[in-house]
Amino acid sequence: MDITLKKARADQMAAGALIVLILEDDGSSLTDRAELAPYADLICRRIDSGDFEPKPNRSLVLFLHPGGPERLILVGLGKADSCRYDTIRAAAAKGVRAARDHKVETAALLPPPPGLLTGVEALEAAAVGALLGQYDFDELKTEATEKTKRLSSLCLIHEGSKPPAGWKKAVDAANVTARAVTMARDLINRPANLVYPEVLAETARTIAKERGLKATILGMEDAEKRKMGSFLGVAQGSRRPGRIIVLEYQGGSKGKPPLALVGKAITFDSGGLSLKTPESMVTMKTDMSGGAAVLAVMEAAAVLKLPVNLVGIVPATENMPDGGAYRPGDVLTSMSGLTIEVISTDAEGRMILADALTLAQEYKPAAIIDLATLTGACVVALGEKCAGLMTTSDDLAKSLQAAAQASGERVWPLPLFDDYNELIKSDVADMKNSGGRNAGATVGGLFLKKFVSDQIPWAHVDIAGPARNDKAQPDAPVGGVGFGVQLLLKYLRNQ
Ligand code: ZN
Ligand code: ZN
Repeated sequence: MDITLKKARADQMAAGALIVLILEDDGSSLTDRAELAPYADLICRRIDSGDFEPKPNRSLVLFLHPGGPERLILVGLGKADSCRYDTIRAAAAKGVRAARDHKVETAALLPPPPGLLTGVEALEAAAVGALLGQYDFDELKTEATEKTKRLSSLCLIHEGSKPPAGWKKAVDAANVTARAVTMARDLINRPANLVYPEVLAETARTIAKERGLKATILGMEDAEKRKMGSFLGVAQGSRRPGRIIVLEYQGGSKGKPPLALVGKAITFDSGGLSLKTPESMVTMKTDMSGGAAVLAVMEAAAVLKLPVNLVGIVPATENMPDGGAYRPGDVLTSMSGLTIEVISTDAEGRMILADALTLAQEYKPAAIIDLATLTGACVVALGEKCAGLMTTSDDLAKSLQAAAQASGERVWPLPLFDDYNELIKSDVADMKNSGGRNAGATVGGLFLKKFVSDQIPWAHVDIAGPARNDKAQPDAPVGGVGFGVQLLLKYLRNQ
């Protein structure tokens, strides 16, 4: 479902709920909002009485007299100076969740208070949040009572005869962004018996057909012909054949080098022969979050007709232990020719990315960004709400950090110290695939760096932390978050 713009007076429109985002201040931001005038007194009394505190993650539902919206849903934003894109997104999502809890069918969202971000950005954040507040993964539940109720319509209202400048574009972008996040989440949340490499390949073919992209799918034999020994080492232990998915989008001028987006897609990570514990294996259907994000971004870029050239590369395989599986101690020759000693078969993400990065360079990219649930060490370092950013380019560092701030998908820089290469020095091959516990995220980055030419700006985003929610958030329930979609779309829109 999309969010629409609607000309209406807040107090006169027929809707199950009117959602209002409120700042924590002396009340001036309430009286400043003309469209809120009919309710300002009611809201002020609820704040004064302490029934409602306008802090983040707080909400209150009020029932109204007949004639206008049936309910008023107040959601707190906190103080204006600490109100970020993600604060507004989460608040709008919380409002929609409250409406859904009340079995509301139609809801209207009042634009956020003026003066936040650039105004239009705040509007976009609210629209994206409202849409993501609709998301739940319940398609595999068969009992109607277990299915969560969703709104059947959602609008943003404006009182003037035409929406203010920039609103339509912001709402369109919000709709495309939310659809892309939803698609990525569905792919991630669907279990590994339903989403395996060929399913991702089929998804890419459908995107290509519907949106006019070019899809090239390499199967196991193609990978053998291309001598992708590192990818094949991982893929050979699974009964489901691996796929390397390439999607090309031409939105910029012909001949302009593309930006390459590479996403790790281990559709299930058992750890291979270096088997994970049962507890740590349960969530491993989400080890394809990077690949899901890349597919979703490729489609969204085409829908938004972004004036850029892109190549999206998704190496997709399971990591399983069977008689054919690769073993600790094996030495594999990657597509680049570099040899890798396997220390842990559970450090498989970097193995498939090595060949994917080599393949990406055949497209003569202007830059490469890879997205991967790569290391537990990154989660230890930065927690569950922040990705690690490792890059060889100051420009990429700056623009990705700006996009992170503008999209509310946080990244933080981690180093690529040259001398730490010592940690993955092998006695028998060019490198080994694991360097022990210390500096795990950086070592993952250093490993990948060996497969990227010094001439090409490259950034590695380790999303192992934020890719999955263990605790429900208003804008993302437990499970796949689709992290990276909003970050990359913001990055691409800024180009
Ligand atoms: Zn693993
Ligand atoms: Zn993995």
